[in-house]
Amino acid sequence: MRDRGKTDLLNVVLPLPIPRPLTYAMEQGTSPPSAGCRVLVPVGRRRMVGVAWGRAEVIPDDIDLRTVIRVLDPEPLLPDSLMELLGWISAYYFYPIGKAVSEALPPGLLSARQKGIDKIISRHRQGRARSLHSDAWETPRSNLRLTRHQRKACDLVFPAIEQKRYLPVLLHGVTGSGKTEVYLRAARHCLDSGRRALIMVPEISMTAQTVGRFTSRFGSDVTVLHSGLTDAQRRDQWKKIRMGHSNCVVGTRSAVFAPLDNIGLIVVDEEHDPSYKQEARLRYHARDLAVVRARNQDAVVILGSATPSSSSLLNARAGRYTLLEMPKRVADSSLPKIEIVDRRSHGRRRQGKTETPRWLSGELGQAMNHTLSKGEQVLLFLNRRGYASFTYCMDCGHVFKCRNCDVSLTYHQTAAGNSRKESLVCHYCGYSVPALPVCPKCGGQAVQARGYGTERVASDLAGMFPELSIGRLDRDTASSRARLESLLKAFHSGEIQILVGTQMVSKGHDFPGLTLVGVLWADLSLNMPEFHAAERTFQLLMQVAGRAGRRDKPGRVIIQTYMPDHYVFSYITSQDFEGFYQKEFSLRNALSYPPYGRLINLKFSGKNKGKVIDAAASASSLARSLAKRMGGGSVEILGPAPAPMVRLKNRYRYQVLLKSRDIKALRQVCAGLVYHDAEFFPGSVRLEVDVDPLSLL
Ligand code: ADP
Ligand code: ZN
Repeated sequence: MRDRGKTDLLNVVLPLPIPRPLTYAMEQGTSPPSAGCRVLVPVGRRRMVGVAWGRAEVIPDDIDLRTVIRVLDPEPLLPDSLMELLGWISAYYFYPIGKAVSEALPPGLLSARQKGIDKIISRHRQGRARSLHSDAWETPRSNLRLTRHQRKACDLVFPAIEQKRYLPVLLHGVTGSGKTEVYLRAARHCLDSGRRALIMVPEISMTAQTVGRFTSRFGSDVTVLHSGLTDAQRRDQWKKIRMGHSNCVVGTRSAVFAPLDNIGLIVVDEEHDPSYKQEARLRYHARDLAVVRARNQDAVVILGSATPSSSSLLNARAGRYTLLEMPKRVADSSLPKIEIVDRRSHGRRRQGKTETPRWLSGELGQAMNHTLSKGEQVLLFLNRRGYASFTYCMDCGHVFKCRNCDVSLTYHQTAAGNSRKESLVCHYCGYSVPALPVCPKCGGQAVQARGYGTERVASDLAGMFPELSIGRLDRDTASSRARLESLLKAFHSGEIQILVGTQMVSKGHDFPGLTLVGVLWADLSLNMPEFHAAERTFQLLMQVAGRAGRRDKPGRVIIQTYMPDHYVFSYITSQDFEGFYQKEFSLRNALSYPPYGRLINLKFSGKNKGKVIDAAASASSLARSLAKRMGGGSVEILGPAPAPMVRLKNRYRYQVLLKSRDIKALRQVCAGLVYHDAEFFPGSVRLEVDVDPLSLL
């Protein structure tokens, strides 16, 4: 190491899979830009756009020092608070800093070809925030008299905002208890105190009502970041926020990277929602990052939910978060009545050819007739899209599977003009083939589609209730925001009488005429090979149940299941959160699963199965020896094991799961592995590190 004398040195983060920034020299006589400005630098034979990451004092002797070509921004594109967060992310998720930065920025900002590299901050076209507020939704009043619980929440949160105090709050309030009103008041207070607010929602299109309430109350002070934006619009919104033209940002998980400085409040609505976890590339959890960001910024963070995640609940119990409960609905409407229908007995009886479809129990059928006859609405929930879940040949047993994945294909029917198009589709990679009535293996004609999805249910309903209007809400029908919004609006206004849908229907909608919710097959999520399957089921079912009877009319919920004795159902019928989490906590604790133990999942994948297995096996033995060297015992190494879905998109998948109650030891073992990765597996095998994995599939 030696001193560089007169030349200024700059650390530059580049979108490359390297763990640290690279050091460059500034041209003689030019001073280095502030941290957070983009710079154009030579890398090999290329030029790349990177982000200045502060000055470097010394460089190692053996490095051939190159010079920054050009500074691209007069002012930092990234505020300090975001750089701090990204540094934390890189270390915590074992992810190269430059890759983390490029994923946090809107696409194109680090592209050397993009003409946007010229003075992006200097001139800004004032973009008009697209309002998501639509007339069909009620106009919120801001002069409501707060309930006692809402008052209490505000009394806790307001002073912390004023005093710039880090305050993490878990707001556990049943659906309709007025949580959103608390977010709105807190945001108003935050803006009035001269600080800025970040509001996160699971999915913009599914939370149009919440977003609409923000846009109508804060007007042009709000920027909505949603997935429907083009890359250019995203860059525009980013600049608008960065330049301080907008003080309140509402967005989905990636909004946690919004270039806001001076944050006083972060809200994470529906904090339990799995969509906050990114399941590709940088596998971050936006709720966790929101808490980190609030801590770094001395801000208030409100995690709100009717069904909090077990990890947030445990944090509250351990005193790390302040727990606020809102146990009653504002409108005094009572919570719905929940009943379980045992489907097992129905399976044994042969059903007649016509009347009742296989997915419908007598109880639910009667309840539907009763509800519809009163002119009220019905919501049916089935967490599986498509028409039938698998197709097979009755002659030879051939099951139609995806060419690229180890999963069976789902049968879909779509209307194409007057005829209908039948196809077999893979829900993991999108592979699709026309559904032919002939078996490709034996040539027989006994091809059968089995199981049911939302398509079949909607089609059966159309036959059963020809005079009614039936809607279907799943990823296939909600392909565009416009279609989704018109569907939701039609159900909201009563134009549609029965809506059938996947978990998309569980999110925060408020439908005034809806009094009956039917859950067709509750076991789907319960049978997932995941440690949190019961928690996820509890959350999903309580959320869908929460849609029923939100006004003056009482709601009724009927849940069909083949596992009526599963403990989750007794807590659901009694709506006993406390009891459920008590039970869940004791099970998790016994097995050291989160939130008691921590997990890191090392995911190995590649086209060559043997190489993937070898890599996973050497990683696992290295992990064992690292754990042993550290005193052993505290870190469990599970695997290598094939992932539950062993082949996806033509790649074989094996994993090694690290588990421990000692997070430091856990991270040390992982660090040892990540730094040795190149030594024990070939380039054709990819390693992805999933810290705090939500899904192990
Ligand atoms: P949550 O977000 O907990 O589901 P909301 O904030 O959406 O609950 O409130 C449910 C309904 O009650 C909304 O229509 C809202 O406008 C209304 N509301 C909220 N707070 C009050 C209040 N203090 N007085 C009267 N109505 C309220
Ligand atoms: Zn596939």
